[in-house]
Amino acid sequence: MNLIKQAFQVPYSFNIVFTKDLFSTDNQEFTNFLANFGDSRFHKKILFLIDEGVAKNHPLLVQSIKAYFSNNTNITLVDEILVMPGGEFVKNDTTYLDQTLLAINKYGIDRHSFVTAIGGGAFLDMVGYASCIAHRGVKHIRIPTTVLSQNDSGVGVKNGVNFLGKKNFLGTFSPPVAVFNDSNFLTTLSDRDWRSGISEAIKVALIKDLPFFEWLEINAKAMAERNLTVMNEQIFRSAALHTNHISSGDPFEMGSARPLDFGHWAAHKLEYLTNFEIRHGEAVAIGIALDSIYSQLLGLISQEEVNRIIALLKNLGFTLYHKSLGENNKLNLWEGLNEFREHLGGQLTITILERLGKGKEIHEVDFELMKLAVDELEKTI
Ligand code: NAD
Repeated sequence: MNLIKQAFQVPYSFNIVFTKDLFSTDNQEFTNFLANFGDSRFHKKILFLIDEGVAKNHPLLVQSIKAYFSNNTNITLVDEILVMPGGEFVKNDTTYLDQTLLAINKYGIDRHSFVTAIGGGAFLDMVGYASCIAHRGVKHIRIPTTVLSQNDSGVGVKNGVNFLGKKNFLGTFSPPVAVFNDSNFLTTLSDRDWRSGISEAIKVALIKDLPFFEWLEINAKAMAERNLTVMNEQIFRSAALHTNHISSGDPFEMGSARPLDFGHWAAHKLEYLTNFEIRHGEAVAIGIALDSIYSQLLGLISQEEVNRIIALLKNLGFTLYHKSLGENNKLNLWEGLNEFREHLGGQLTITILERLGKGKEIHEVDFELMKLAVDELEKTI
């Protein structure tokens, strides 16, 4: 028998920079990164794509980017700065993926150059995916502009688009080369988008960090009142927990488990069942409440603990029930579990709560008990 054995490791590292006014000319964070990254023998280009929701609310952004690069001789800013719709729409309609790929081709973005996406989680997911499949991967930089993308999605390693009616059916595990969280962007978020990302912080706190959960309880009112300082602290702590989890565990999800997806099997299904009327973060809030009630019905956590979780979510302004959960005798929701299993492959693994601050993986879900959990959830409205 002839056999060649091959094995190698590819190290990844990138910084998540927390800053303000990233493109003001006296902020050197971005230029410093570009100056120090990669092989200085090659001249680099940088292409920017902006989420329309951001461009509309920050009308001077394009101008600021152009001014920021005007004296930079080390890198060429592509003249055209593309603005495309934000939100789930951009992941559902492959037109935008095509447009991004066309721009990468048209402006000659090669593997030494950069694609930079400024936007919410959906926009970053789509542009990140385009960057990863063009030339088998060009470097991408993320500038997340929502709470959810700054505290979770933008700091991770995944990207993707929806396809065949399935969330993130196309996608890759490909880390960005840098992330810049500019807190200025948060000031223009709608109340819904300001709130929705907090659910990802609650998720990670519930499965990993009781003191952070308690901090969220104490600071819920301030966050609901749009206190930016408190929000920034929440984002930093949540991003750190997500980042740490990714690097210390299974970054490219080789196994079947996805502990960070507590509350997500129902959330993903709910997004489809509501035709994306509800935001990802809002769906996650419902998913967290549902799986917390299920954990209580299994006898893992107490009624008092569930009440705390529900109270926190409600104090932040989340609505924890949607009628689509109950439709078709809950079978529509139930389908979500099978889709989750399919997406992961292998054995069904979902995370529920062993106690506050600690997740627990389970491989079977009792439909009758889950139906009961949905009924309990309905009582919260
Ligand atoms: P979003 O990207 O859908 O954006 C919501 C809305 O906010 C959009 O209309 C957008 O235009 C607008 N917007 C963005 N920034 C703004 C700003 N600064 N001011 C005003 N409006 C602004 O919402 P999201 O919650 O950021 O992201 C949700 C997406 O993230 C989902 O597709 C979800 O699947 C994905 N996600 C990905 C990962 C991952 O690991 N890749 C993890 C979690 C979630």
